[in-house]
Amino acid sequence: MLHRIVALVLVLAPTVAEAQLCEGQSAAISADGRAFGHLPYGDAPESELVTLPSEYSVGNPCVVRADMLPDLLRLFAAAQGDPSVMGQLRALSCQRSIARQRSVFCRGEISSAADRAISVAPPGYSEHSTGYALDFAVRPANGCPDAEACMAATPAARWLRLNAPRFGFEQSFPGGNKQHVKWEPWHWRWVGASGNARGAAKARFVFARARRLYPADPGVVPLVVKFSAPPPLPTPVAPPPSRSKKKRR
Ligand SMILES: [Zn+2]
Repeated sequence: MLHRIVALVLVLAPTVAEAQLCEGQSAAISADGRAFGHLPYGDAPESELVTLPSEYSVGNPCVVRADMLPDLLRLFAAAQGDPSVMGQLRALSCQRSIARQRSVFCRGEISSAADRAISVAPPGYSEHSTGYALDFAVRPANGCPDAEACMAATPAARWLRLNAPRFGFEQSFPGGNKQHVKWEPWHWRWVGASGNARGAAKARFVFARARRLYPADPGVVPLVVKFSAPPPLPTPVAPPPSRSKKKRR
């Protein structure tokens, strides 16, 4: 009998899932699949990746999904044409494979995975692996490092908030997000300005859980088509009394 009870308790006990991050370091996985707040994502297929022309990026070449490139180029062209931005917007970090993310996350001497996860998503839990996300930078930095409040206050970052959704981009991690990921004003993911845009359905599928549970801000809102209501039918009016002078019979 005791064996049965022990077996039953073991079966019913909540299992705590863990993800192996670095050698000897793992993270508890929450009920909705998150590690240190970050949702899980797979690698983009190599065949779907293209490189952004180098004039739009700083640092390493920026690799993104081919479906997202036209909107990204349109965004840069619009930013280039705005006098307050004047081409200061650049792509700093784009697609990163899970293997690359692991090498970034697991290097260095910072004490714990939890500490590292504040500024770098754990491998297998970064939107960057999908090829649909990128970090923008404002260059020249003019004494403003890539820090949240400083970047968010620049005209280029304000322009992004106002305009990026028009090109299908949304800010994944706004300040105070319930996902408990640090505010990242530079980090945007592409989901297409409309669900009918080329490749948008696939991107929206990848981010479906994130968008449902932790909406972006600003986000790409569903296209609302407003039909103009037809004019109301005229109320039937009783005809005026006949003024015929015919005599009644
Ligand atoms: Zn990012």
